[in-house]
Amino acid sequence: AIPVLTIDGPSGSGKGTISRAVARHLGWHYLDSGALYRAVGVAAGWAGIDLDDAGALVRCAFDTGIGFRDDDDGEPRVLVNGHDATDELRTETAGAAASAIAAIPEVRAALKDRQRAFRRAPGLVADGRDMGTVIFPDAETKVFLTASAEERAERRYKQLRDKGVSVTLAGLLREILARDARDASRAVAPLRPADEAVRIDTTGQGIDDVVARVLALVPG
Ligand code: C5P
Repeated sequence: AIPVLTIDGPSGSGKGTISRAVARHLGWHYLDSGALYRAVGVAAGWAGIDLDDAGALVRCAFDTGIGFRDDDDGEPRVLVNGHDATDELRTETAGAAASAIAAIPEVRAALKDRQRAFRRAPGLVADGRDMGTVIFPDAETKVFLTASAEERAERRYKQLRDKGVSVTLAGLLREILARDARDASRAVAPLRPADEAVRIDTTGQGIDDVVARVLALVPG
């Protein structure tokens, strides 16, 4: 079977940065599953679909064109229905919309095959909330990243500030705690580590150290 490394955890745990770096080291493909949920949320917004209209959201999950590519500087860009929506996808509005639609079981089911299609030779690093529990339960290596809510808020704050987005640390902490609570308490695929996942707390840890710890878990 094509090897899969799943990296799950809450927002701001460092999943995206760590997963990309690990994928680059291994020369494996990378799945940013959160971007799929964000893309559907954003596309639903463009189409004027109400976040309570489960039927329309499920159709949107099937119909939305979602493409990934790196720009000339190697920066990942996400295309939604052909439009570069990378910046819009990163906003807290998109995150909140993603989290709301991700609680709908049929939306999750609609995105299942699209996620599994990323499993291609020579291997896949899959980043999300339920990669190890639902999408790739047979993955040979599973990691669950955590970090304190304060540190996660601070990381988001720095990211957004660097982009010139004006936010407050207290506001971000509130949003992160609210999103964590919703992601952990939803009926389908609640955020939890797979039983066999190796848990790594990234609070106060440098990126390179965490990347090295994750790489050491992957069978050579
Ligand atoms: O990881 P990211 O912050 O981009 O994910 C946005 C939202 O999408 C999460 O808060 C979560 O509700 C949802 N999500 C999910 N399952 C995944 C990835 C993301 O439910 N595998």
